[in-house]
Amino acid sequence: MAEVRFQQVSKSYPPRRGGEPVEVLRNLNLHIPDGEFLVLVGPSGCGKSTLLRLLAGLEEPSGGEILVGERPVSGLRPAQRDVAMVFQSYALYPHLSVAGNIGFGLRRSRPRTALQLVQDNLHQASRRLPRPLRVPSAREERIERRIAEVATTLELEPLLRRLPKELSGGQKQRVALGRAIARQPAVFLMDEPLSNLDAKLRAGTRAQIVELQRRLGTTTLYVTHDQVEAMTMGHRIAVLNAGRLQQLGTPMQLYRWPANLFVAQFIGSPPMNLLPVEVIGPAQLQLGGRRLPLEGPMAEALAGRTGHRLTGGLRPEHLRLAPAANRNLRATVRHGEALGNEQLLTCQLEEGDHLVQVRAAPDEQLAAGSTIHLAVDPDGWRLFDAGGEALAPPRPAAEAVLPEL
Ligand code: ADP
Ligand code: MG
Repeated sequence: MAEVRFQQVSKSYPPRRGGEPVEVLRNLNLHIPDGEFLVLVGPSGCGKSTLLRLLAGLEEPSGGEILVGERPVSGLRPAQRDVAMVFQSYALYPHLSVAGNIGFGLRRSRPRTALQLVQDNLHQASRRLPRPLRVPSAREERIERRIAEVATTLELEPLLRRLPKELSGGQKQRVALGRAIARQPAVFLMDEPLSNLDAKLRAGTRAQIVELQRRLGTTTLYVTHDQVEAMTMGHRIAVLNAGRLQQLGTPMQLYRWPANLFVAQFIGSPPMNLLPVEVIGPAQLQLGGRRLPLEGPMAEALAGRTGHRLTGGLRPEHLRLAPAANRNLRATVRHGEALGNEQLLTCQLEEGDHLVQVRAAPDEQLAAGSTIHLAVDPDGWRLFDAGGEALAPPRPAAEAVLPEL
């Protein structure tokens, strides 16, 4: 068990074919407390895999230091770092059985004398002989017990003798997980481990990983591009973009109080609707020719900003189908997606022709082209300045609520 610290970590890859060096991470500071499940998200190419590979020792940082517990890890080989990584591609050893794959790290972790090596080999070779003829090896017996424990945890017992090519994708991923947990490392690193699985299997394995992490209490860094995984699996989410940490917080903090436009657009599906607004009073925004009231913590953040042009953000659930009324916004339905439990409507506001996405009940009959009216939740507004930074809501709305580990 251990906390993890990235201290001022930078990473550039050398230039390819005479180009510029690729700067992937810039002075990254990140503290992951012992036992935390941290989900790492960001657009493709933003450096998520690089961050995990730096911690695993598969890449060298260009600057800064990474600590696992009290221990700086630069200068330690991957095997000495007490971390285990699970990849999207499983990366199983094709010539080893499931049992061999799970036990691989255990067998490799401690150096053996030549005598031990001979004894272990004889033990393995004699395993199928009647008991009195078997060559004992305390080390091998310990490893076999551990493999059996892991197999029980992940329901892999019936598969132990199979080769990876005889397994389905989901089974392979469970073996890869088994290999990671077998060594009882201080830190798990998982790089999009579920993205090759079909939707149903993904949901099941997601629950299994969360349950396993909570039970073992092992500090975990988990990379995903899946919104549901990001929102549901971790204690906290770190959003990375353009080499920098954009925001770090619980899933609900990021969803409710995104720190900037990037996070507002990245967390949540469909993303937050963005509209150009002007502050016209202490609790009023102007959208084109319409005045819209604002309530809640954001109303106070507007003090002294009359006349400012801002970007106003509304989650799809903060726009509701409503009767025709002066205070509501007229819009035309452009496109609808029936999802069974709800429908997602893309609508064009009459005011300024802006497109917004709205959630509606599944039984509303709303063909493309129909006119609707939308009520804006006055509590739902989030506001961003010209630089894309969120206007800070007054405390305690944005106060960090630390997750219970
Ligand atoms: P992510 O996992 O977030 O999609 P990566 O960490 O894999 O992103 O890559 C970040 C950036 O670094 C990308 O632009 C990628 O092309 C570049 N990159 C990754 N590995 C190497 C490498 N070995 N050499 C050069 N550039 C690399
Ligand atoms: Mg990646």
